[in-house]
Amino acid sequence: MNWLTNFIPPKLKALVARKEAPENLWLKCPACEQMLFHRDLDANQQVCNHCGHHLRVRPLQRLPHLFDGGKYEVHTVPKPIVDPLKFRDQKRYIDRLKEAQSQAGPGGDGIVVASGQMEGQPAVVAIFDFGFMGGSMGMAVGEGVVTAARIAVQKKAPLILFSASGGARMQEGILSLMQMPRTTIAVREVKEAGLPYIVVLTDPTTGGVTASLAMLGDIHIAEPGSLIGFSGQRVTQAAIRETPPPDFQRAEFQYKHGMVDLVVHRHELRKTLARITAILMKRPAAEAA
Ligand SMILES: [Zn+2]
Repeated sequence: MNWLTNFIPPKLKALVARKEAPENLWLKCPACEQMLFHRDLDANQQVCNHCGHHLRVRPLQRLPHLFDGGKYEVHTVPKPIVDPLKFRDQKRYIDRLKEAQSQAGPGGDGIVVASGQMEGQPAVVAIFDFGFMGGSMGMAVGEGVVTAARIAVQKKAPLILFSASGGARMQEGILSLMQMPRTTIAVREVKEAGLPYIVVLTDPTTGGVTASLAMLGDIHIAEPGSLIGFSGQRVTQAAIRETPPPDFQRAEFQYKHGMVDLVVHRHELRKTLARITAILMKRPAAEAA
């Protein structure tokens, strides 16, 4: 403490502090450690323009790039009972939910359901939000998948799932685990209607989501570098008592071992999805595609 800190009134100090460069303008790429300007990153769909690393995106950032002319309709997902177990760890579950909702926007809970046209092909998408409590699959997420599946059947459109999840939402206990069979049945309804179900595995897809709906696609696409697996590397290492290879459980590793059909750059996703749905729906592909 010197005479200056004692002397300068707090308001004046705040004014001085504000002149510093705001930290949120820049982000360090987790792969190449280059500094990335947020605006450039937004324009590049959150792909590092130095090394091509795919950073995680939230559903609302992804949606405009998926549909023609950035036009799509977001569907409301019916609300399940909130916090039926009155769960509490260090914090109350209901408070955690409120906190996550204040960041995700009103009504959001781990998944966004939307529909629109991809290169002229109608499609329904359900996008997991990893930013919302680790994309954990609780009742609301299950409800989202069921809603998306029903809309797909109604519209006679393919269902495309973008997975990103740490697994079950432990704060909902058994009710969370029940979403595994529930979403599996929803997906089956789409298949029984003769419609394609395509999964885009994004970083990270693990746990109960891998063990259910994320591995049931007719086609599995993965974004480059995504972590795709059931248990994490440490658990697997302890179980098999061997050191896994460095690219273990990454998209490219899963592609090499037949778990994934295609690894597709984020910029190419819309075209690839449109081409695949056109083939599977036996529709003529858009001329431009
Ligand atoms: Zn990078």
